[in-house]
Amino acid sequence: MPDPIHLISLGAGVQSSTLALMAAKGEVGPMPKAAIFADTQDEAASVYHWLDWLEKQLPFPVYRVTAGRLSDASLKMRVTKDGRKFSRTNIPFFTKSATGELGKIPHRSCTSDFKLKPLFKKARELGQIKRGQKTVGIIQWIGISLDEVQRMKHSREKWAENRWPLIELEMRRHDCLQWMEKNGYPKPPRSACVYCPFHHNSEWRRLRDEEPEEFERAIQFERAIQFERAIQKNKASSENFASTPFLHRSCVPLDQVDFSTDTERGQTLLAGFNAECEGMCGV
Ligand code: SF4
Repeated sequence: MPDPIHLISLGAGVQSSTLALMAAKGEVGPMPKAAIFADTQDEAASVYHWLDWLEKQLPFPVYRVTAGRLSDASLKMRVTKDGRKFSRTNIPFFTKSATGELGKIPHRSCTSDFKLKPLFKKARELGQIKRGQKTVGIIQWIGISLDEVQRMKHSREKWAENRWPLIELEMRRHDCLQWMEKNGYPKPPRSACVYCPFHHNSEWRRLRDEEPEEFERAIQFERAIQFERAIQKNKASSENFASTPFLHRSCVPLDQVDFSTDTERGQTLLAGFNAECEGMCGV
């Protein structure tokens, strides 16, 4: 049985970019065979520019894989046999019921379908993993830092083993930023879909002020998703359309949100979300 190959799961944010550059300099070993970036096609332009730059610094290839545009998939409505509409793709929206109760959708599918699945598909191909293989053929490096240990999860595939080199090195996010600076590299962006409800207020502010076109894209996406789901409420609707979806935890339309504070409620909800995130999304 050949030795497992090492692959980096590249989110293209601060931590996984630092990890890839550390590997390139031989500060973490062995040298990975490749990095894989699972593209939702909805990252901000700054992330794609960063990725273009990053792959030129690395001695191993970066494969960009995709399951399509996540925003399009989440706006695509399907119909059950009894005429109820639903969407197979769910983003971690915050929700407001008709009686004003705030919540969040119970289950999101975006990370699994648009990050993990395309990533595993490429990893299988690179590692020549056989159908039903139970022995480890891939060591998957994940860019989770010490301040995000709650995101660590074992691989759901028997043929893949997760490794968290930044945690082995006891590096936190600010250590990554310091390492980048010390080595003369530019500051990486935060990678995530432009409309991701996981954004803290500071990221919403940054997007609004530094990438207004991307912020506008998030506003338009929120309006479109609310329009699609509002129509369903007037007809027979499935359960996940019972409330109005919002991108911001305050359940206020994005273009009217006061981003100056972080509320306790939002922090609690985000803590729950982060625990599910497995470090695949850079939020
Ligand atoms: S960044 Fe957010 S919206 Fe995009 S796939 Fe990850 S959790 Fe879903």
